[in-house]
Amino acid sequence: MKQTLHYLFHNCEEAGRLSLMREARQLSLRQQIFLHIHLLFCRCCRNFGIISAAIDRNFAHQRRQMSEQPPLVASEEWKNKLRDELNQIAE
Ligand SMILES: [Zn+2]
Repeated sequence: MKQTLHYLFHNCEEAGRLSLMREARQLSLRQQIFLHIHLLFCRCCRNFGIISAAIDRNFAHQRRQMSEQPPLVASEEWKNKLRDELNQIAE
């Protein structure tokens, strides 16, 4: 019993790993229960989960914005300038 409680309350490394895992896939029931109980008592891991979720939302937002922008296309002038510079290096 003592070992179980120690595992539940003093295992931030496992809680952090599970917090990140649950964003990608469904946790097992045992993992969900462990994480839920740990988060009830550990403010650090709760904050980690909040910050991690905020970072994920920000990345998703950036990805959406980038996909809405037209693709970058080099101008003919820039291509010619680059070609000239590469030719100078090759000579
Ligand atoms: Zn923790």
